[in-house]
Amino acid sequence: IACPSIISDRIVGAIYISSSYARAFTDNDVDFLQILANQFGIFYLYYKEYSKTLDLAIKDGLTSLYTHRYFQELLSQELEKAKNSSYPLSLLMIDTDKFKQYNDTFGHPEGDKLLKNIANILLKNVRKSDYVCRYGGDEFAIILVNTKKKDAYAIAERIRQSYSILKKGDIQVSASIGIATFPDDAITKDELIKKADEALYEAKRSGRNRVVLA
Ligand code: GH3
Ligand code: MG
Repeated sequence: IACPSIISDRIVGAIYISSSYARAFTDNDVDFLQILANQFGIFYLYYKEYSKTLDLAIKDGLTSLYTHRYFQELLSQELEKAKNSSYPLSLLMIDTDKFKQYNDTFGHPEGDKLLKNIANILLKNVRKSDYVCRYGGDEFAIILVNTKKKDAYAIAERIRQSYSILKKGDIQVSASIGIATFPDDAITKDELIKKADEALYEAKRSGRNRVVLA
């Protein structure tokens, strides 16, 4: 029996069952399967709409990275897990150096493209279990789960070096990165963000294109 799932004159899927016996199915079986197929169609459409809405709430429209709001939620959750299992956690705050100049030279659409390229570089340099977020504007935050300071530094340094491919005209794009680690530098979420931010500020102040530990 093959039953299409039809919603508003559109086929959204089908259920197909077969048997190795001849005449295995009755008309009742066909009717029953058709009801199931219709129910499946409604469930499928709801699920698709739900995941679209969820995505809009937690993913940034330009880069598809997690939003600032969701970052706050994720960091609370992951810190709780780290506390319960006595694992370290590192937070990277990354700001693009002289992004204003890039925008002014090539225009905002090119600036947007650059932000997307940066997002891809960040995603490529971390594990699937880490969280890459757009903190705001040209600033990004990465939650490195179960990662001690020394390893976070190596990852940050690798990220910083990966920016070398981001060159357009005379402008070589670079990154300033601040790192803070739980529990070495801070215990609470706000304190950890503050420490990473201060390290980032120090990276900027001392000349940019560098990684600074809290
Ligand atoms: P610094 O080295 O100190 O970080 O200087 P900067 O030029 O990068 O300046 P800053 O970080 O203060 O400014 C970030 C700029 O990013 C300002 C803003 O116009 C631009 N910006 C923020 N969001 C977007 C965006 O979504 N697209 C584009 N194209 N530009 C953005
Ligand atoms: Mg900047």
